[in-house]
Amino acid sequence: MNEQIEEAVESINTRPGFARNGKPFDHVVVAKVANGAYRLECVPAGILGTARPIEVYRAKRARNNIIKPWQPGTDDESYCPAHWADIAIGRGACGFRCRACFLMLTHRTFCDPSRHVLYENVDDYEIMVLKELIRAGKNLGLGIDCSDSLLYEGVTGHARRLIPLFASKDTNPHGRKLILLTKSTNVHYLEGLPTANVLMTFSLNPEPIANLWEGKWNDGVRITPAIMDRLEASKRAQRMGFEVRWRIDPILPVDKWQEVYREFLFAAAADGHRPTRITLGTYREMGRSLLTIAAKWGLPPMEFVPGNLSKDGMHYHLPDEQRVDIYQHLSDFITAAWQHTGNAPVVALCKETKTIREALGVTHSHCNCE
Ligand code: SF4
Repeated sequence: MNEQIEEAVESINTRPGFARNGKPFDHVVVAKVANGAYRLECVPAGILGTARPIEVYRAKRARNNIIKPWQPGTDDESYCPAHWADIAIGRGACGFRCRACFLMLTHRTFCDPSRHVLYENVDDYEIMVLKELIRAGKNLGLGIDCSDSLLYEGVTGHARRLIPLFASKDTNPHGRKLILLTKSTNVHYLEGLPTANVLMTFSLNPEPIANLWEGKWNDGVRITPAIMDRLEASKRAQRMGFEVRWRIDPILPVDKWQEVYREFLFAAAADGHRPTRITLGTYREMGRSLLTIAAKWGLPPMEFVPGNLSKDGMHYHLPDEQRVDIYQHLSDFITAAWQHTGNAPVVALCKETKTIREALGVTHSHCNCE
């Protein structure tokens, strides 16, 4: 590994802390590397579309575990409706190191949020998806609950192999949809591909908000690409003919948040963006140890203090009235910003309770994944 990459890798390494049992927080991962289950690989920045290279662990995933059916929480109407299943292209936080990534709580000491587990037996994925598409069923996510759909497209080529299978009536007789969700700008890999039955969705926020919680290296350089570049990627996907959707999540109620979001949405509408749906989500945590785990993995802290979260269903949420106020404002901004276009995006909510939906008059169960 030449000196330049060594230096770059040095600047991106985190220093894990210790678990309650006194063991290094990464002891499970270190053991997997030692027994050969994981192999460390450094992916160049040029392939990822990031400012610096990112390290990943390569591993194999069992065929019968490639399609992860979604089990909605039975006791919580705010959990995902049973609309989708996920193609498990990776494991653990995706490597963008967002400082409140829910996957850190899901995987705790078992996955290093700085080194995603990126499965390498890609032929098996094509075979299992082909088998799955023969029968009727839900939409399928491309790692939307366990990775980023396009960050590693230059390494795996999953989207380029699977999109034609979804677009063709021969291989997808029931017209099931493939959902891609990304914070990357890597739509250039999709040029020339068919677009039928594909939902190209972008996770976005106004730049000042993204800067408070999305991933940063130790010296403060952002890992996720700039929002204006991701907006450009969204427009490119729209020009390619893909159905484009946006997720604005988490919404952070910072000082003057109304102006920040209003400006962002009006500028996007004026600039020709035509997402068919915008799914909103306020800041929430599945457990109060989320930020502690992030610190234990050596991630820099989030630059936003969530304030008074309380348990509501499966998540710790902001108070009801504050959430209703936030959603009402953003929904009004979206309607007003796209009014003149004749096709205002459908406004949807992610992981919200019945109480909140009713307070806002959101009667449909649409979300980003359905
Ligand atoms: S992009 Fe998504 S999966 Fe990746 S670190 Fe951020 S929140 Fe987690």
